[in-house]
Amino acid sequence: MLRDGVRLERSQWWSKERLQKIQKRKLQEIVRHAYQNVPFYRHLYDSAQISSNNLTRFSNVEGLPFVTRQDLRDTPLQDRTAAGIDVSKCRPNTTSGSTGTPVTVLDDSRFAAGQEVVSLRPLLAAGIRPWHRVCRIWGDPNNQPQLANKLGMYSDIKNRLYKRVFGTEDIHNHLKFYSAWNPDVIIATPSYFRALFWFGEKEQVKLSFKVAVSLGELLDDATRKRIGDRFHANVIDTYGLTESGDIAWECPAHCGYHINVESVFVEFRTDDGPAAQGEAGRVYVTSLDRKTTPVIRYFTGDVATPTDEECPCGRGLPLMKDIQGRIIDFILMKDGSHISPHTVMSRVRGIEGVENFKLTQKGDSSIELQVRTRTEKSEEALRTLRHRCLELFGEVPLNIDLVDEIEGERGPKFRPVESHLTQVSGS
Ligand SMILES: [Zn+2]
Repeated sequence: MLRDGVRLERSQWWSKERLQKIQKRKLQEIVRHAYQNVPFYRHLYDSAQISSNNLTRFSNVEGLPFVTRQDLRDTPLQDRTAAGIDVSKCRPNTTSGSTGTPVTVLDDSRFAAGQEVVSLRPLLAAGIRPWHRVCRIWGDPNNQPQLANKLGMYSDIKNRLYKRVFGTEDIHNHLKFYSAWNPDVIIATPSYFRALFWFGEKEQVKLSFKVAVSLGELLDDATRKRIGDRFHANVIDTYGLTESGDIAWECPAHCGYHINVESVFVEFRTDDGPAAQGEAGRVYVTSLDRKTTPVIRYFTGDVATPTDEECPCGRGLPLMKDIQGRIIDFILMKDGSHISPHTVMSRVRGIEGVENFKLTQKGDSSIELQVRTRTEKSEEALRTLRHRCLELFGEVPLNIDLVDEIEGERGPKFRPVESHLTQVSGS
């Protein structure tokens, strides 16, 4: 573990060519492993008539089929799991649902530990050291990486200097905690930061952090600026998916996001094929370390721009920039409480017959819900939906619209849960 950490700290400074060589070797290994051991990939590649000879000598993934979130959803976990894996030693990791119906993958101990090391990169790069106080906000107390925790680096120091708080708890308590404990670093989603501005302003609490790390959702420019201004923090954004792990992180030189090429292979594509340097493309990712439930040429749903610009920091890790992805918000209640967008999404997504939705909280606190349903189930779905909304939001004025298509739902900037109350101007 510690060895992995030291190696990763070193390898980011290696030349692009040396890193590419490692990436290519790992890419070949994972494709071969998936074909030989995972029913889903074997079937996928066989149906695409990719000969196993070609596959085992594969040096270039061009030609392998792409995989969508829907493909993973439609395939039972068992068929996506490599043969010979002791599933009881793995932790199921489920996506938050901001990108649609949740998908589950399995984290084995090696992957989880590797991810923990990779996630330290942006912190170390921003000058954070083991003696600094770090506070990370988790969406849900039931979804903690306990495995990584057990195997974690610096676990002793971590228990004293690393605190977790939960986005589902009362943010007023968080404000008291920050004022008392004075963390140097705060790690949270943009939706949490926006809720924190709102509560902090109301309570007139002034907070400051050395570094604010944003993760899990798209960080828009207005929220980024506000985090920097309000918390006097150096803002570092990160980009990753539950399915693939951490993909890229913003360099403190603020020239773009360094791609963790030792653990992911990222492709940018337009309708005509690979995007050119400086051209925006759809982002596809292959995890080079996820052996239990491999994720290969997986469409992230996001758009970003690859760039061959050299970063002044001197790292050999290539850069990407201008990430366009999904934004979500906390919903604020009149009694001063809040509801996490992840709670909203999991409550609505689970309803039979609901295909997609967009929930908007207006400036007067009322809620508008656009829903697309399967026609044969729409009446039942609407009834359940009203009931769930009543449980979630109480007597807040609610308007539900049944629609054939939700505006913007297919674009990378779709906002499934949006609140005009926490909106930062310019976003
Ligand atoms: Zn850099």
